[in-house]
Amino acid sequence: MIDKEKIRQAITLLLEGIGEDCSREGLKETPERIARMYEEIFAGMGQTPVEALGKTFQAAGSGIVLEKDIVFYSICEHHLLPFFGKAHVAYLPDGEVVGLSKLARTVEVYARRPQIQERLTAQVADALMECLRPQGVMVALEAEHMCMTMRGVKKPGAQTLTVVTRGRFGQEQHLQEEFWRMMGR
Ligand code: ZN
Repeated sequence: MIDKEKIRQAITLLLEGIGEDCSREGLKETPERIARMYEEIFAGMGQTPVEALGKTFQAAGSGIVLEKDIVFYSICEHHLLPFFGKAHVAYLPDGEVVGLSKLARTVEVYARRPQIQERLTAQVADALMECLRPQGVMVALEAEHMCMTMRGVKKPGAQTLTVVTRGRFGQEQHLQEEFWRMMGR
């Protein structure tokens, strides 16, 4: 589904555009190498969270489930530069729970495509609401954007925080407070 030939041509043009000589030793394999790399870092293009979340199982009466510090790497769709950091994903089950690794998989499906952090945060929350039908979801992402740190305002280490709540997390302050308490903040 990823057209590697198109990517190869585009990278060649891009290098020519900045005045490079594409035939020199160090660049000869670069278009092919990037085409292969893009298959991996944009692998989420052909995937859906339903596959990632897979099957759920019953767990009556459980409280907030929080998976924190899920490391993710994504690509900013405005500059095609990486943004990366940690995702913290919590939900309040309504009888159904899912394997913890599935939460990280869901983050990955949405991270591995051209993104903006705000949408990535919302998509993870909405996927959980849809697939798990929990009482509520809260997702927080903290990330460093290379388009902010290596160019433009150049603020190395600056973190962008985005938070999305759904269901009861949106309505009940004490659940949000519990989230941050479980996060240790
Ligand atoms: Zn950007």
